[in-house]
Amino acid sequence: MIRPIAIVFMAGILVGFLVGLSFFHLPLAAINKPKAVSATSISEARAVLGDRNIDVPILVYHIVRPAYPSDSAMVRAAAVTPEVFDTQMKYLQSNGYHVIPFSALVNYFTNGSPLPSRPVIINFDDAWEDQYVYALPILEKYHNTATFFVPTNWIGSKSSFLTWAQLHQMLALGMAVGSHSRSHIPLADVTDPGVLVSEVQDSKHILEKELGTTTNEFAYPYGSFSSTTIAAVDAAGYKAARTEIFGRYQLTSNIFALRAINAPTTTAQFEKIFPK
Ligand SMILES: [Zn+2]
Repeated sequence: MIRPIAIVFMAGILVGFLVGLSFFHLPLAAINKPKAVSATSISEARAVLGDRNIDVPILVYHIVRPAYPSDSAMVRAAAVTPEVFDTQMKYLQSNGYHVIPFSALVNYFTNGSPLPSRPVIINFDDAWEDQYVYALPILEKYHNTATFFVPTNWIGSKSSFLTWAQLHQMLALGMAVGSHSRSHIPLADVTDPGVLVSEVQDSKHILEKELGTTTNEFAYPYGSFSSTTIAAVDAAGYKAARTEIFGRYQLTSNIFALRAINAPTTTAQFEKIFPK
């Protein structure tokens, strides 16, 4: 007959053996590698790496489609034709610029991961279906990635807006989708904390549920933000957020208030921003 104490003793030996086995199966590199800077918060990263400052223009497009004679002056000022967009993408490629995703910039700030020379981030705001029809094939042609910031309430709500099915296709082609709130209201004016949570946090959860992916980036509608909105974006778990403040230098301390450049509608203006 086996006494209970013997069972406990044998079980102890078995557990010890399994623990030992799993230890020896760890790759050596995992044991000997010096601890990488795996900052979980931007303040930790700043303490280790300092406040980094780097030239990474974030180009923001809204409407990419052929010009219509009926276009208002406002639309003409914001719309980029597919031909001009193609020329701009071609120009970046042939002049040594490298299109990077937001995650590369975040990793640069938090882990010190190097970036390619002349890095550029491409964004599309406001969920216009034209972006899928006209810009997406050109992005694919030049093997570029881009982040599409969408107000979740607008998806599929009108024929001129992107649908969830289109967003799925865009993700499959290597694009990223970020939150542009739920209803596209100026967030600095929001006084009800519940509304702020709905716009910032719920929009993230809606995107993640519908698209089955993690939403890491936020863009403030109308570029409207405050210390309160930054805190809400941080608390919701985003990794970066973009404003509409004009600028091309990005700082670690501005990870939730990144600068942006409204995409020029002509090639001449574009070449001024991106010298040869
Ligand atoms: Zn917008």
